[in-house]
Amino acid sequence: MNTLADAAAPAAVGASLRVRGLTVGYGGAPVLAGLDLALAPGEIVALLGANGAGKTTLLRALAGLVPATGSVRLDDAEIAGLRTEQRARRAFALVPDGQSVVAELTVDENLRLGALWRHRGAARERAVAEVYDLFEPLARRRGSAGHQLSGGERQMLALGRALVAEPALLALDEPSLGLAPLVVAHLMSVLQDAARRRGVTVLLAEQNVTGALSIADRGVVLDLGRIVADAPAAALAADTSLRHAYLGF
Ligand code: ATP
Repeated sequence: MNTLADAAAPAAVGASLRVRGLTVGYGGAPVLAGLDLALAPGEIVALLGANGAGKTTLLRALAGLVPATGSVRLDDAEIAGLRTEQRARRAFALVPDGQSVVAELTVDENLRLGALWRHRGAARERAVAEVYDLFEPLARRRGSAGHQLSGGERQMLALGRALVAEPALLALDEPSLGLAPLVVAHLMSVLQDAARRRGVTVLLAEQNVTGALSIADRGVVLDLGRIVADAPAAALAADTSLRHAYLGF
């Protein structure tokens, strides 16, 4: 008999991402028109741009949450035609902005849910324990419901839930939004560790340009749905005219 445990997927390592000609609209003019983007395995890429530049739209299109045309390849596999849950099974994880944890479930239940397709038995316990090691406040609140958590704790849980699934590609939409600087620094270091130690490929959409570039290998700047800069993180951080033109500081 097939069980959920039998369906557990093998552990993933970082995947390459190759996007070609991605076009997305919401009925009117396209928000993204023929966008090309490539990420190498284990690379951290900061996705930057002003409000309305198209960052969320790009991440949602990659996750299959908005209709899009064009090619999206995860390693050698074309995933553009797949549904969101099929992309998740291929080890693509999106941590959306706002409230992505299940409010009625406890911290522990949220984490086990994240691990459902990846781990079983002792491996699942280990994966969940690792998240508690990374985020000590979650360990203290493991029996609390999602809706009882602070904004920072919820964001840790959202990231933890993505990490227990051992994604090959982790996309995050403004994980630092509204968080205290110390929490932001901790989230960034966890992401950096996921990429460096586990080889996870990370696409990090952020308004916190300094924080994102401090851990990124490369930065990509979106403006009105087009990529206007794609450069090593240190070069982007030092480019004051580009920052003034597109990032507002
Ligand atoms: P922010 O940093 O403010 O979150 P963003 O770079 O993530 O911005 P998007 O949310 O992708 O930008 O928005 C890009 C454009 O698409 C904007 O002009 C926005 O108004 C439009 N847009 C986004 N979602 C929808 C929607 N559901 N229906 C119609 N237009 C939308």
